[in-house]
Amino acid sequence: MKYIGAHVSAAGGVFNAPQNAAQIGANAFALFTKNQRQWVAKPLTPDVIEAFKAHCRQHGFRPEMILPHDSYLINLGAPEAEKLEKSRQAFIDEMQRCQQLGLTLLNFHPGSHLKKISEQACLALIAESINLAHAAVPDVVAVIENTAGQGSNLGWRFEHLAAIIEQVEDQSRVGVCIDTCHTFAAGYDLRTAAATEATFAEFDQVVGMQYLRGMHLNDSKGGLGSRIDRHQCLGDGEIGWECFRYLMQDSRFDGLPLVLETIQPERWPEEIATLRRFAAEEAGIG
Ligand SMILES: [Zn+2]
Ligand SMILES: [Zn+2]
Repeated sequence: MKYIGAHVSAAGGVFNAPQNAAQIGANAFALFTKNQRQWVAKPLTPDVIEAFKAHCRQHGFRPEMILPHDSYLINLGAPEAEKLEKSRQAFIDEMQRCQQLGLTLLNFHPGSHLKKISEQACLALIAESINLAHAAVPDVVAVIENTAGQGSNLGWRFEHLAAIIEQVEDQSRVGVCIDTCHTFAAGYDLRTAAATEATFAEFDQVVGMQYLRGMHLNDSKGGLGSRIDRHQCLGDGEIGWECFRYLMQDSRFDGLPLVLETIQPERWPEEIATLRRFAAEEAGIG
C-alpha cells in the first residue's frame, strides 16, 4: 500500500492539517508543528493535541503516514557552541511536540559546516545532536533528509547519511528521508527507471534500504549534479515522470509517507491521482 500526500498547511493550528490532507485525496501528509521560521513556539495545549488526534482518526491517518518537518533555522552540526546549543534545544522541543501529538517520525535537514569545521567534525556533531534528542525524548525516530548540497549543507552524499547513522547509539530510532529533487541535484541520476534502480541500489549499499522511513517526491528545476535545491511539479522538471512511475510500482516504497513538496499546491490532487494510477497499474487493477 502506497501512502501518498503532500506537505500541507497547518495554518490556524496543527489540527487543521489532517483535513487539508484529506481534501486533496492524500493518505499521507507532512506538516510543521510550529512556525518553521521562528525559534520558539508556545507549547501545544491538551485541547490542540486532542483535536489533532481526533482529526487524524476521523480521516484514517496513522502515525506511520505522517512525516512532520522541523524548523529551517535548526543546524544540528553548527560549528559555534551557542548556535549548536540553541539548535539542539529547538530540536528537542520539536521532538517533544511530535511525541505529544502521538507522532513517531521527525524529518530534518542534517546540518551545515559553514566552512568553519571539517565535514567529518560536522557529521559527528549531527550524530551527537541526535543522541542527545534520543536521550531527552522517547519513541520518536529522527529522520535525516538527504540534501541537494547547496552551500555547506551536508547530507547530499549517501556516505554522509551513513556516517551520521554509524555514530548514532540507538539505530532503531534513526532513519532517512530521500528527496528526489535533492538526490538528483546532488548528482544521482533518476531520469530513467534503470537510473532510478541504480541510484537506490547505491543507497542500499551505502546506507541500507531498512533505514528509509519516508520520501519527498519532487521534480527538479536544477540539472543533474547542479547542487541547486529548486523543486518543480512532477513531470515538469529535469527528472520527468519515469522515476515516479518506478517508485509507485516498487514494493520497497510501500508503507512509507511519500510526500509532495512541489511548487503548485493547486496541482497536488492531480499529482496524487497520477501517482495512484501508476501504483494501480502495478497491482493490475488499472
Ligand atoms: Zn524535502
Ligand atoms: Zn528541497
